[in-house]
Amino acid sequence: MLGGGKEFNSILAIFQPQFAGMNRAIFLDRDGTLIAEKNYLCRPEDVRIFPATPIGLKRLGDAGFKLFIVSNQSGVGRGYFTLADVENVNQHLCRELARGGVRFERIYIAPEKPDEPSHGRKPSPQFLFDARGEFGLNLADSFMIGDKLSDLECGWNAGVKKSILVRTGYGAELEREAPEQISRAVVVDDLQGAADWILGSLSSLNE
Ligand SMILES: [Mg+2]
Repeated sequence: MLGGGKEFNSILAIFQPQFAGMNRAIFLDRDGTLIAEKNYLCRPEDVRIFPATPIGLKRLGDAGFKLFIVSNQSGVGRGYFTLADVENVNQHLCRELARGGVRFERIYIAPEKPDEPSHGRKPSPQFLFDARGEFGLNLADSFMIGDKLSDLECGWNAGVKKSILVRTGYGAELEREAPEQISRAVVVDDLQGAADWILGSLSSLNE
């Protein structure tokens, strides 16, 4: 057996340049992006996964992207629910998506209220920097996907290749109301559209 997957990937990257892309990642907002937006969602039974989510993520994972969730959960800081509630919801989401062969490397949560000091509350890029440090990622080959301006800004602040806005959640409203603020973003319908765009951009680069 080979030891760590990371070492194996590094060896592949040295000898076979096409595997160099295995240090790339997709950073995903949770509410409104992977699952239906619901104000202060805190119960696993209220999780509604978009049909496009497992399919889109599986395709991205199969293409060698490491998957991360980066989620602001100010409901914790506001006292509406606990971090344990957030973890229950996340575990449920991970279990459901695992059935479709989707695996997340890490889930980053910012539990603070908007006006509190925070380690990584979006639009801060800090969790993406943390992931780069821990997983040896190349952020310039990575993508951020979300339904709010703070998601897009988080990606831009981190220097990702592209921030992608989905029209689920608050995305369609943002596209309609603030087109100039999102002009640097790619806009797609959902996670399947995001996978189409990302994988298409890779193949056009390789031509
Ligand atoms: Mg969202």
